[in-house]
Amino acid sequence: MQPDGEPAQRLFERGEGLTYNDFIILPGHIDFAAEDVDLSTRITRNIPLKNPFVSSPMDTVTESSMAIGLALLGGLGIIHYNNRPETQIAEVRKVKRFENGFITDPVVLGPDNTIADIDAIHTGHGFSGIPITEDGTLGSRLIGIVTNRDFDFEVDRSRPLREVMVTDLVTAPEGITLAEANQILRESKKGKLPIVDKRGFLVSLVSRTDLKKNRDYPEATKDERKQLRVGAAVSTRESDRERLAGLVEAGADLIVIDAAQGDSIFQMRTIEHIKKEYPGVDVLAGNVVTARQCEHLIAAGADGIRVGMGPGSICITQDTMAVGRAQATAVFNCSRFCRQKGIPVVADGGIANTGALAKALACGASAGMMGALFAGTREAPGEYVYKDGVRVKKYRGMASLEAMERGGGKRYGYSESSLKVAQGVAGLVVDKGSVFDLVPYIVQSLRQSFQDIGVRTIPQLHAAIDSGDILYEIRSPSAQREGAVHGLLAYQEPVLGTGEERERR
Ligand code: IMP
Repeated sequence: MQPDGEPAQRLFERGEGLTYNDFIILPGHIDFAAEDVDLSTRITRNIPLKNPFVSSPMDTVTESSMAIGLALLGGLGIIHYNNRPETQIAEVRKVKRFENGFITDPVVLGPDNTIADIDAIHTGHGFSGIPITEDGTLGSRLIGIVTNRDFDFEVDRSRPLREVMVTDLVTAPEGITLAEANQILRESKKGKLPIVDKRGFLVSLVSRTDLKKNRDYPEATKDERKQLRVGAAVSTRESDRERLAGLVEAGADLIVIDAAQGDSIFQMRTIEHIKKEYPGVDVLAGNVVTARQCEHLIAAGADGIRVGMGPGSICITQDTMAVGRAQATAVFNCSRFCRQKGIPVVADGGIANTGALAKALACGASAGMMGALFAGTREAPGEYVYKDGVRVKKYRGMASLEAMERGGGKRYGYSESSLKVAQGVAGLVVDKGSVFDLVPYIVQSLRQSFQDIGVRTIPQLHAAIDSGDILYEIRSPSAQREGAVHGLLAYQEPVLGTGEERERR
């Protein structure tokens, strides 16, 4: 048969930098259902994922809420480090302590707190129970519980809680399953079930109102102790060593060394330090864009390589630094090298839609890292605001002037005192609803994309890249226009995963 399309090797050999937009994958033969596609992958040597994506360590993308959501849904979150070490460590702990249906960081008060203290917490809202412990914190002896029924009509709001709390308690022992906890809640007809350890110290809480919301997450990313997995970012600075120790102690499964240009002696030393001191923790090193850079980091002990310099949606690195690489070419070249070494590649930046994620995998990546795609969800840090009638959230580069003012320049090697050159911008993204709706949409879309390509798994896709069984083609500028919506005055564009549409002109 005449050549029809070209294998990846030829596509990327031409010496031009290609982006995801510059090429298309030619369809293969379908002999299976989209449901038969298995998206299991590895993000690093020892960390498997059921779904091939992670969220960026950025202060408008990943804190514990995003990390919990993504881990439940088979991905992984990387907690950012634009904060004090203890704050980042606490976020990691929240993920590791998370148990589906168990509230592991409930509001707790002490016997000397007053009704007014509760009013301040619950302005105007009813609630079904605040546990009272001896010293007012979690991990102290449980002595009572207060519900708004206990003091609704009390005129004197300065009364201490010891006088109004209920002390006749129904509790359950630590280690109980959610199903058992639910059964006790049903029988006792209480609003909250405190979980206590052998000494009677409060460990967590199960809430009746959450009962209905509980569902199973069969794809959840968990460690061998059945705790959710989480990653955490650090810089290459010596001063981050203490932060690193705290993160590992808190149970971080993966350390991401966050550097815009990762091929440095500082990064190699950091990798060696982590592998020597904490051999059980995987290291995702980067960022790099060439095979030679990968070689250095793998030689130092990296368990995974993060690829991308300049493709991020908020990124102006290539314009300011004149250094970087078009992302598809970078991912292809790094992955080809890393595959021979058995090291997974994470394609980081520029994945603006599910098609780009499929293309990143079809360039050889084992997973995609996304900032913009997950920013604007309910689980991303920050509050929603309205801009011209549209509900939006802030999304900013870690090297935007705004983020660097809060310490974000570490990734770019800036010290506290140096003059900082912005390599990113701050902007807004539309409300995308919850990752619990967005991620299933991404997964289904990816499954269908694999079906169109004609491969059932990521290893099969990678083998097809090497064998030349999967074919690609450059898209001319007019082919790119043809492939997008064109010729309409206005149209309704779906907002990923929300089931809603937005008018575009
Ligand atoms: P996005 O998914 O296209 O929005 O790209 C997110 C990625 O951009 C992150 O994972 C980082 O690798 C990168 N990034 C984050 N902040 C900056 C910045 O200020 N300048 C350049 N790149 C950034």
